[in-house]
Amino acid sequence: MDQSLKSPPVLALDDAFHAMIEASRSAPPPSLAARLDSLRRLRTMLADNEKRLEQAISADFGHRCAVETTIAETLFLQAEIKHTLKLLPRWMAPRRIATALQFWPARNRLLPQPLGVVGIIAPWNYPLQLTLAPAIGAIAAGNRVLIKPSELTPRFAALLREVIAAHFDPTVLSVTGIEDGVAQAFAALPFDHLVFTGSTRVGRIVAEAAGRNLTPVTLELGGKSPTIVDVSADLDQAAERIAYAKLLNAGQTCIAPDYVFVPEPQRDAFADKLHRNMLQMFGTNPANNDYTSIISDRHYARLEGLLRDAIARGAKPLSATSPEDPAWKKLRKFPPTVLIGATPDMAIMQEEIFGPLLPVMTYRAADEVIRYINAHDRPLALYWFGRDDAAREAVLARTVSGGVTINDCLLHFAQMNQPMGGVGASGIGHYHGEWGFNSFSKLKPVFYRSPFNRMKDLYPPYGTSIARI
Ligand code: NAD
Repeated sequence: MDQSLKSPPVLALDDAFHAMIEASRSAPPPSLAARLDSLRRLRTMLADNEKRLEQAISADFGHRCAVETTIAETLFLQAEIKHTLKLLPRWMAPRRIATALQFWPARNRLLPQPLGVVGIIAPWNYPLQLTLAPAIGAIAAGNRVLIKPSELTPRFAALLREVIAAHFDPTVLSVTGIEDGVAQAFAALPFDHLVFTGSTRVGRIVAEAAGRNLTPVTLELGGKSPTIVDVSADLDQAAERIAYAKLLNAGQTCIAPDYVFVPEPQRDAFADKLHRNMLQMFGTNPANNDYTSIISDRHYARLEGLLRDAIARGAKPLSATSPEDPAWKKLRKFPPTVLIGATPDMAIMQEEIFGPLLPVMTYRAADEVIRYINAHDRPLALYWFGRDDAAREAVLARTVSGGVTINDCLLHFAQMNQPMGGVGASGIGHYHGEWGFNSFSKLKPVFYRSPFNRMKDLYPPYGTSIARI
């Protein structure tokens, strides 16, 4: 084994943090060349360890579809690195800001400056992407980065720690342990910026802990992302695209369509098409390698509970089998399930589903749907299918959400130039591309006084100075 790939010494969390703070306060900000070098190292690290990372993630899930890991994690990160390498010189350059006439011929510049040390707390569902995508933005902005992965992906966390230690100085980028108590201690550290990706419930706790240090936060949270099928929609196309987006990573995606609203007369036909698409894409064999497992027995049981409660209260499932089927349960594969007849008071319509269960709700007038969405937490994502421009614009204008994809799902997330972030209960702040660079920088306004300016005319004794300018 390559000696450089041995596990790093376990530094106490406090020591790791203070070493980073000390380095960030004593060294000048990293040059463009140093940042590009770090990003290229990250690229090499990912390429050299792609298979191992994919296998570790799969072992943590029970089974994670390898293609999904490649698309949603590795390729996504490689694209983000490529985009950043190309545009970083432009992002780092001082920005010209207009100067008001009375200050001429002075100059204004906005100087992007590293904040210092950025902490990243990540969830388990896309463990590689959600630890490293914020790190790319933070490193590009010249920061040092400490990452805390989720305790639900222990094999991945150990491997990430190992490979990062092999490629980076520990005061530039490093990964903490995931033992009990680390998460809370991590959130309590006085970072210069903290990025938290996870549930809204824990997001509140982290925001409180950060608030005590006045640490600015980016909170990438969850919630229920509604999907609206307009009467003008092509039902076949909508059903296929929604089924795919819902079942990617077995529904364990923060921006997965959580529930669908369809016009009442089309409910049964649409639910049937959804179900048929699900079967066609992922089959009826739980050992199918394209279908990802649920992360833990506890999460599987939670989904079973949501389904059981909905059925007991009158909802009807469309599914190849029940989640209690031992062939599925032993692999923690949850049978894709469309649910009709769910009502807003059921638990499945109150909490984020985060699994392959899809309630199909009905409406008579588009206005009902807008009112329903606005009566609930601001969603992280919203999806709209249809061909009626006026109906689409009404939904866009009257609902507030983290992001929107029209006539498909998830794809707004993959746009490198667009900000990623929630609103209200689904999050605070943005990242990805230049948005991440800006979030993790202090954009410092600097005024360069001109020797020729008449400012001196304003000094006391004031006399009639106001009249003189
Ligand atoms: P979670 O909130 O349970 O955990 C997220 C992270 O927070 C983990 O690393 C965990 O160790 C840490 N944590 C737990 N308690 C903590 C505490 N008291 N103080 C500090 N840190 C603490 O979330 P999860 O189950 O890992 O992930 C699923 C959730 O994440 C879903 O709600 C999903 O929608 C959301 N999510 C959001 C995005 C996004 O980009 N907005 C992306 C992925 C997942």
